Parts: sequence; structure tokens; C-alpha cells
Amino acid sequence: MSFFNCEEADCTDSESRVRLRIEPREKNLGEFSVRRVLPASRKRMVGPFVFFDHMGPAEFPPGKGIDVRPHPHIGIATITYLFEGEILHRDSLGVVQPIHPGAINLMTAGKGIVHSERPGDDLDRISRLHGIQSWIALPSEQQEIDPDFQHYPAGDLPAWEEQGVAFRLIMGELQGRTSPVRTYSRTLYADLEFSTGGRCDIDLVEKEHALYVAEGEITVAGAVVPAGVMVVLEPGEAVEISATADSRVLLIGGDPLGERHMYWNFVSDSIERIEVAKQDWRDGNYAMVPGETEFIPLPGEE
Ligand code: MN
Repeated sequence: MSFFNCEEADCTDSESRVRLRIEPREKNLGEFSVRRVLPASRKRMVGPFVFFDHMGPAEFPPGKGIDVRPHPHIGIATITYLFEGEILHRDSLGVVQPIHPGAINLMTAGKGIVHSERPGDDLDRISRLHGIQSWIALPSEQQEIDPDFQHYPAGDLPAWEEQGVAFRLIMGELQGRTSPVRTYSRTLYADLEFSTGGRCDIDLVEKEHALYVAEGEITVAGAVVPAGVMVVLEPGEAVEISATADSRVLLIGGDPLGERHMYWNFVSDSIERIEVAKQDWRDGNYAMVPGETEFIPLPGEE
């Protein structure tokens, strides 16, 4: 058993399978706060995952909720996954899709999409919001594909339970199951809900893996990992995970795609492409979201 005790944002325990520990930064988004886990200073990406935000848990009074005005993305697919609450997604393809806990919204930006994230049907009452928004970078040769949006209801995801652990497979393959959610490169994303004392062994078959403890506390190959911490694991044999409290853990992984540049909501392997995306947003060259009149200007250009 080893305990981390580091003052720095990231640190390493050389004794264990934990290569790096990432402490997220708290970001106030106005209506609520998020913990931004990726990109981290010492680890920009895990497999294709270039961005990982833990939203909430937040409670809103009636009339308040998430309220993100239309904004553009390029070069990524965004994955929205909720534990609690509801978000209404609208995009420039004309898609209007509410998302509920356990479902997946996969929005592929490719060469460019604009979307808004607004309150759902729970706006008229006290509501809660808790979940994860992550972005996966697209492989270089697919960065300029047409934008796309897919919704997967909660019942579409493989779900099973073993030894006090409820598994939900969001993307990729795990323990002989395969998720129907579209991927662009080798990607793993799973939600593991542990009862106190629950345990499992995870085969680390991807090139990179990390665990994020959204709630509770787990022990990973002997290292204690509390809530709000992501640990990047050494590749190799199966790793044992056990829970010392009721816990919610996200497992991410995949093959590295190479370096990406990120500015605001734009991701690309090319700095020049990001400059084009910025100018296109300034110039109003993106298709807008039907039913929306607002938009978020480029940072510093309000
Ligand atoms: Mn967005």
C-alpha cells in the first residue's frame, strides 16, 4: 500500500503501476464549476483523449442550469456522458437531442460543427447536473471529415456486474464485450461503479490507460486514489482495482495519435489549421444552429 502526498499538480509513484497522478484544475463556468483533468501539464493526452472535464455535481434552482451558447469545434469528437441531470444539445446539422444519464452523445466535429448545450425539461424545478464531457482527437487523416452526430440511449451500451462492480462500456472492447459507439482509432472508455469492497482486474491491452475517480476512493495495484484524481497507468499486465468506498470510476485508453494543438474549442495537428478555424469563426463562415441567435465570440474578442 502506498499513499501519494504531493504538493504539485502531477507526481509519480515509482513504486507502483501508477506512472502519473493528475490533480484537476477547478474551472468556474459561471453557472457551475468543472474539474478539468485533461489536458494536464505533464500529460496532454491519454490515447486519443485530449480533453476530460468532470462537470459538477451541481444543483440549480428553478430557471437555472447549464447554458452554453453556440460555439464551434474542429478536429475532434465530443463524448457527453451524464450521471445525473439532463442537457439539451442543438447543432448546426439541425440535430436537437436531449441527453439523460447513461446515454451517449457523440458529436463528431471533423471539419467544423457549431453546437449549444442548454437546460433540459428539468428547468422548471430544482435540478442537478453531474457527468463527464471528454473529447477524442480524430486521426490526422480524418480531421477534415464531415461533421456528424450520434445518440446512443443508455440501453444500447453493454452493461454487466461482477464482484460488486457494475460495468458500462462506453467505447471499445472490455472483458469480451464490444460497445456499439463509433470510434475513429483504437479507443477504450468505460464507467465502473463499485460498491464498497468491490474489486476487478482490468487487462491493460491498449497502449495507454488512465483511471479517473469521480466519486469514492479506490486502490489500484496497491496505490490509494481518492476522488478527483486521475492516474495514468504503466502498460503491462492486468491491474487490480478495489474500492474502499462506494465509487464511480472512469477508465479511458487507446492508442496515441501524435501531438495535437489546442486553442479554445479547436484541435488539430496543424497550428495553421487552427488559425483558419479562428478566422472562420470571426468571419461568420460556420453554419449556425437553427433556433439559436446567440454565439460565443473567440476568447478576448467579446
Ligand atoms: Mn462544445
